[in-house]
Amino acid sequence: MSEKIEEKLFQNRYRVDEGTSHIRVNADKVPSEQLKAMVNICPAGCYQDTEDGKVEVVADGCMECGTCRIVCQETGEVTWQYPRGGYGVLFKFG
Ligand code: SF4
Repeated sequence: MSEKIEEKLFQNRYRVDEGTSHIRVNADKVPSEQLKAMVNICPAGCYQDTEDGKVEVVADGCMECGTCRIVCQETGEVTWQYPRGGYGVLFKFG
């Protein structure tokens, strides 16, 4: 029996650190192609286009894969760190 990726992701739990995002985007500049691509690349769907042509990140549900950190490393638009202890994703297998 095969499961959809959405069903697998739903098994994860996420503890939100209110008011402290472990990923931030520099929204002052016009977004690079790398940052715009994150809307389609992020496996957790944390990146979204905004109506004013920018890209925003809502890190709730982030799986800490580090992909956005690597993809946007050269542009410097993404500030990334692990969540504080006790917060962030809790993987549940099964
Ligand atoms: S670390 Fe991975 S899951 Fe988290 S926002 Fe970046 S690409 Fe998405």
